[in-house]
Amino acid sequence: MTQTSALPTSDDARSAPRIERIDTYNLRVPLRRQIADALYVRTHWNIPVVEIRTSEGLVGTGYSGIWQGEDLILDSIDRHLAPLLLGQDPRRIGELWDALYWSPLHWVGRAGVTHIGLGMLDIALWDLAARRAEQPLWMLLGGRHARVETYNTDGGWLNFTVDELVADMSAMVEQGWDAVKMKVGGPDPREDIARVRQVRDALPSRVGLMVDVNQKWDLFTASACAQQFAELRIGWMEEPLHPDDVVGHAALCKRSPVPVALGENVYGAEAFSSFLGADAVDIVQVDVTRVGGISEWLRIAGAAHAASRPVRPHAGDMMQLHQHLVAATSNDLQPTIEYLPWGLEVFEEPVQLHGSTVILPTTPGASSAVAASARRRWEQSS
Ligand code: MG
Repeated sequence: MTQTSALPTSDDARSAPRIERIDTYNLRVPLRRQIADALYVRTHWNIPVVEIRTSEGLVGTGYSGIWQGEDLILDSIDRHLAPLLLGQDPRRIGELWDALYWSPLHWVGRAGVTHIGLGMLDIALWDLAARRAEQPLWMLLGGRHARVETYNTDGGWLNFTVDELVADMSAMVEQGWDAVKMKVGGPDPREDIARVRQVRDALPSRVGLMVDVNQKWDLFTASACAQQFAELRIGWMEEPLHPDDVVGHAALCKRSPVPVALGENVYGAEAFSSFLGADAVDIVQVDVTRVGGISEWLRIAGAAHAASRPVRPHAGDMMQLHQHLVAATSNDLQPTIEYLPWGLEVFEEPVQLHGSTVILPTTPGASSAVAASARRRWEQSS
């Protein structure tokens, strides 16, 4: 959908850049194989996109990554959020974020659909800011690291047999990764432990191995499995409980000898603050496509760093944005993002990997612009 500005402007406002047009569309991208975690079985990845055009002649692009519901997200932008931005000064990102967050949608969207829409618009505004400054986003935000490391999570799925699983995880290591992640959270935790043990035994001892429960366990199950994960030298246990359960995660963090990671289903700074304040998270997996964009991601990462928690973002952005954000801000000994290559053919400037290391781009923007070839291949008509 396309929207154009019809708002009257004052003389002062006429001298400032203005948001003139906002377009949305969705890309339905096939995965190279069917995958399953503890919650879903999927063959496609949806990438809803928003493009903001300004009176300067610039285009900023924002996007998200989801399994389903792209129509709801784009509708919230088209019908409710975009009209609040048309005619406004795109440089006033903080003011615009507040206007979107405190719009009447606040009642129905502090998390989920409309919050993801807000985040897409915020990402587009930051992409615009970097293009206006003629800087890559990571330099605009501080330029702390010129490269970041990755761990590989493009494998280890729950629908694989043990033989397939071991071969898949071993292949990732042979391709050069020193840290990999696999899914657990199947119907029988004993089977999960057996699968993890088979993988651990097959991988070189130097390789970091993490597990992802995708919210499926209760406190008792997670506590019991954590003891066994410690024996298997598991790097972290991800999303063991319901993502809103601060009390349960706090209890688990006290009991677990393995670090607890979470954040991909936590939607704002206040929610992360509750986890940090309750010692209910060890590793913060804040996702820029979920938390309301780059503005909120920066607030959350700052709080995590101040509490001495590592930030390992969830790869809902398919690495394009988090490479910039971690490079700009991380105070970790080894700044690291999650490797998930589902978007490599979607973007004009896909993330540049040398082995498992990302080399940060030098071109202006947030690396969020969509390739014309991707639109031709995967755009869905609404
Ligand atoms: Mg996860």
